[in-house]
Amino acid sequence: MIIVMKSDATKVDIEKVISTVKELGYKAHIIEGVLRTVIGAVGDERGKPHHLEAIGILSGVEKVVPILQPYKLASREFKSENTVVKVGNVEIGDNKVVIIAGPCSVENEEQIIETSKAVKEAGATVLRGGAYKPRTSPYSFQGLGEEGLRLLAQARKITGLPIVTEILDPHDLDVIAEYSDMLQIGARNAQNYALLRYVGRSNKPVLLKRGMSTTINEFLMAAEYILSEGNHNVVLCERGIRTFETATRNTFDLNAIPVLKEKTHLPVIADPSHGTGYWQYVTPMALAAIAAGADGLMIEVHYKPEIAQSDGGQSLKPSKFTALMERAKLVAKAVGREI
Ligand code: PEP
Ligand code: MN
Repeated sequence: MIIVMKSDATKVDIEKVISTVKELGYKAHIIEGVLRTVIGAVGDERGKPHHLEAIGILSGVEKVVPILQPYKLASREFKSENTVVKVGNVEIGDNKVVIIAGPCSVENEEQIIETSKAVKEAGATVLRGGAYKPRTSPYSFQGLGEEGLRLLAQARKITGLPIVTEILDPHDLDVIAEYSDMLQIGARNAQNYALLRYVGRSNKPVLLKRGMSTTINEFLMAAEYILSEGNHNVVLCERGIRTFETATRNTFDLNAIPVLKEKTHLPVIADPSHGTGYWQYVTPMALAAIAAGADGLMIEVHYKPEIAQSDGGQSLKPSKFTALMERAKLVAKAVGREI
């Protein structure tokens, strides 16, 4: 349910509604808008004899409306304005298209420092790099772990770029949170509900990637797990889905961008590197994603893709990334955005 307060509701009225929601056994999520406060009451309704509609009689309440979508807090019904998520000093979800770039994995000092300097120079504003890698084979490079985080922090010190890096295991949350600015939940963990709840209890912004076989509805329900724990700083990332097509690594679902933008207030970004799996398709799909309304891009860039330990074939060289950025600025301008 959404409890919409009157524009002249007092602080005391709002407090009373919040305490009543809690007494009835629901969680209260408060959104303070410019004109009025809206309170989302969400939780398990089973076994609760009291109906939230009764809150409508409290002082200062304008109306109580049900949220029809199964994802409550993620829905536009709950919050009509776009959410802006802050990562370091970068804002994702406003008019600027945010470019996140960096290698698939952090491999060594020279690689991450050289690559991060190059992406910064080209105009990226967030650095990506995996220290804990979800590899298909247990015999493949698994990431440098804490050493990788340390190298990312060193790159941040040199370039000033905030860092996003993947978390695979709840046990690593403290150490990853210590070094990074944003937690990435990868495609393989998009429906790992224990991990989603865990990051939902942290105060770090979360980049949630779409699972390779999750529907848009399931993707939004995954976001709901994080939001329902109290962490409202979630950015969604379309990264391609599994289909019958084998010419590309995944089928980049461009449709998902306008569909998600309609259904949710959360920022939506696109990852055409994993979405296509081949460096030569990354730029066209990056441009298409901006035209379709994406709030940002995540692009894999490696200073020497030919010797990358993971995803070299889909990684752009710095020169190609610079060219992408130049074209991306033109597309952004054409659709009323900027980079
Ligand atoms: C990655 O970002 O390197 C990654 C593993 O992505 P995904 O989870 O989308 O496969
Ligand atoms: Mn990768």
